[in-house]
Amino acid sequence: MNNIVYVQNKHGKPLIPCKPRKARLLLKSGKAKIYRYEPFTIQLVFGSSGYKQESVMGIDAGSKHVGIAVTTKEGRVLYREEVDLREDITANMTARKSLRRARRNRKTRYRAARFENRRRRKAWLPPSIKARVEAHYHLAQKVSSILPVKEIVVEVGQFDVQALMNPEIEGKEYQEGEQSGYDSVREYVLQRDKYTCRYAKLRPDIPCNKRLQVDHVIPRSKGGTDKPSNLVCSCEAHNEAKGNESYKKFTGKRAPKIKDFKATVFMNVLKDHLVPKLQGIAPTRYSYGFTTRRQRNEWKLEKSHIADAIAIAANKPIEYSDNLYYTRQVRKKKRSLHEEIPRKGRKTPNISAKRNEKNTKAIHHKGLLWCLWDKVALPSMNKLGFISGFTGNYVYVQDLAGNYLQISDKYKQISVNALSLVCRNNNWVVMA
Ligand SMILES: [Zn+2]
Repeated sequence: MNNIVYVQNKHGKPLIPCKPRKARLLLKSGKAKIYRYEPFTIQLVFGSSGYKQESVMGIDAGSKHVGIAVTTKEGRVLYREEVDLREDITANMTARKSLRRARRNRKTRYRAARFENRRRRKAWLPPSIKARVEAHYHLAQKVSSILPVKEIVVEVGQFDVQALMNPEIEGKEYQEGEQSGYDSVREYVLQRDKYTCRYAKLRPDIPCNKRLQVDHVIPRSKGGTDKPSNLVCSCEAHNEAKGNESYKKFTGKRAPKIKDFKATVFMNVLKDHLVPKLQGIAPTRYSYGFTTRRQRNEWKLEKSHIADAIAIAANKPIEYSDNLYYTRQVRKKKRSLHEEIPRKGRKTPNISAKRNEKNTKAIHHKGLLWCLWDKVALPSMNKLGFISGFTGNYVYVQDLAGNYLQISDKYKQISVNALSLVCRNNNWVVMA
């Protein structure tokens, strides 16, 4: 399976993707029009019976990176995307706060005190987290608008937090070892102890073997619980040698006080706020990182956000399309009312609160408009990049990772004459 083109019907409903050749013919004969360029999607201009394939969208959620994959029951991977989310929100808001704070002490217009007449809405989230939840939702919506998604699966955390907090899993379930709650606890303990045997240094007389298990500090037979605070990572050899002995008798040291699990806030937020939102797109269920890891290992996938997303979607991948996208979320706003730090080269004080020339979101040059985050081609370098800033008629061009593309060794600035526009962008910049 090579490249595929996404297709929508006349009414904007997604259909199964087609081959580029077919898309080309449809476009040429006027039976379809281009709906969007990234990812390349066409829309049919005539009615079409909506044949739907059973595809599942897997989302590897995260606070910095998101992986998205759409797979079909037959193992066709129709879509892969890795996204870098914005991380500047907290910093921007802190800067804003300090500017406002400072303004109170300066001779400016009176600004009424407003810190006591604020009330938080019931479903309030901190702005940085709210932005991330909305970003996840936006991405899911984008993908479901170009592919018929029947189900969404989202990974909401490494471990089943509920199971960690209340893991009193009794007898049978524990022995079967398949109980997902206990599995979660086990995986959590192993990761917490960095996959190293706790008894290796305490009892060097017993050589470690490589099979890692979870050992009860206070044995279960003596009333020890299955809570993470009573569990340590141990190899099979040490675990068997310890048997029913207490930690003190086995090691000669007092049992460690292990702090209990602290739920990562963000992942809980995802479960409570994102999953209900996604239900509006398609039936959504959530999964945990420990199951993803197991699935990924079983299918021998490399470790990446996209591979995780494929594992989360839980259809064994057999055939991959070439459609692979790397996306970065960017900020397009340039609304600093005045500049915090006087810029280099300013000879007179900025009394009129005039903007620095560089502080703009677009420039006109020879009748052409160049905007922030426009995707541009540098024919002389045979490279693609994004406009990340301006200075006069020159621009700064970055690649997706934030590295500057330079024509000269000395200067980062590139003349707009050396560029050609590929496409405009909003808050998401994409490299295929
Ligand atoms: Zn050991």
